[in-house]
Amino acid sequence: MNHDTVVANAKDVADRVLAPAARQSDREGRFSSEAVAALGAARLLGLMLPEEVGGSGLGPRSFAAVVATLAEADASVAMVYLMHVSATATIAAARPGAAVAPILKDIAAGRHLSTLAFSEAGSRSHFWAPVSRARRNAAGARISAKKSWVTSAGHAQSYVVSSLAPEATDPTQSTLYLLQKDAPGLSVAGPWDGLGLRANASAPMTLEGCEVAPEHQLTEDGGGFPAMLQVVLPLFNLGTAAVALGLCRAAVAATAAHLKTARFEHLGQSLGESLPTLRAQLATMQIDTDGLAARIDDVVDHLERPRETTMLRVLESKAAAGDVAINVTSAAMRACGGAAFSKQTNIERLFRDAHAGAVMAPTGDVLREFIGKAVLGIPLF
Ligand SMILES: Cc1cc2nc3c(=O)[nH]c(=O)nc-3n(C[C@H](O)[C@H](O)[C@H](O)COP(=O)(O)OP(=O)(O)OC[C@H]3O[C@@H](n4cnc5c(N)ncnc54)[C@H](O)[C@@H]3O)c2cc1C
Repeated sequence: MNHDTVVANAKDVADRVLAPAARQSDREGRFSSEAVAALGAARLLGLMLPEEVGGSGLGPRSFAAVVATLAEADASVAMVYLMHVSATATIAAARPGAAVAPILKDIAAGRHLSTLAFSEAGSRSHFWAPVSRARRNAAGARISAKKSWVTSAGHAQSYVVSSLAPEATDPTQSTLYLLQKDAPGLSVAGPWDGLGLRANASAPMTLEGCEVAPEHQLTEDGGGFPAMLQVVLPLFNLGTAAVALGLCRAAVAATAAHLKTARFEHLGQSLGESLPTLRAQLATMQIDTDGLAARIDDVVDHLERPRETTMLRVLESKAAAGDVAINVTSAAMRACGGAAFSKQTNIERLFRDAHAGAVMAPTGDVLREFIGKAVLGIPLF
């Protein structure tokens, strides 16, 4: 499939499956297995996998476009999808000797959802420093860990899990492993009842002596940190920025629709016709949204043609997008007044969903810390 086909497929899934269910999924905090099945049927789960295993062999440009399209309809599903694509890239980049081919084929065939289980209760948003430590045993490795947030918890077929390498002497010497959903000792440890992204099952999970065979050790011992930085971070940051873009586009559309249809009967005008202040707010939302789209194009270009400034742009993209999404959806709340506040529109969901990006790791604050250090030439870690 080419770029245009996958984006058209994403739009079809978004219109047919995501948009009609988004409000109810949000209200009930319900994970949409139907959405995942539709993404699989549309061959979107293997978007970036090589054609040899049945994937579409597409790159970051298509990934960002698909995520933004999904997020415009339901950001919870878009987040499930971006975690899956980030996890899939990590599995595809597995060290020689890892037996991941059957899983990649299943992903490309649309039968397998994966996700990332990095954050731990002990190291919180500092996902690069797991406090759990893998132990070597006859079977390979044994891991016990408290994973504080795992998107698609209990719904994914596999989990890319981080843990300190058995002989690690530094907090960043982690290893990544692949755990199957039915691994003994793996369980969802609580409910997910977030402010936003309520339909993506980002619940805590517990690993209690989970055994991992050597063929499911994805990185060399201590190789988890470089994989997090080189494989996961660019996709995760780009994908999170694309979720923000989808949310902004939805907020602009919902605000414009409201300003066109809500009327001051006594003046014989719509809100948009009557109030220049609202038109100005809508204009600022549009400017910010298009600015974010341009930033995403720029980071995509940097990923397609890597250069010295690529990592800086990757860091900036998520930091900036988190703020833009909060600003644009806040402006939508204000422009649509009581109608937004009383949930007559979908704007309050967009507003709540928009607040997740900045707290997801690397958080907006941590990214600023990294960017400031990078500009000053200070080592990040
Ligand atoms: C919807 C959702 C889905 C998620 N899904 C996943 C998932 O699938 N997999 C996964 O591994 N994790 C996931 N997470 C976890 C996420 O990536 C973060 O680890 C988590 O949100 C951090 O929250 P915390 O309260 O532990 O942050 P804390 O680390 O306690 O941070 C508290 C505050 O301190 C600030 N702060 C922390 N360190 C610094 C610093 N060095 N400099 C400046 N400020 C700093 C933070 O920005 C934040 O404002 C998810 C989170 C959310 C909200």
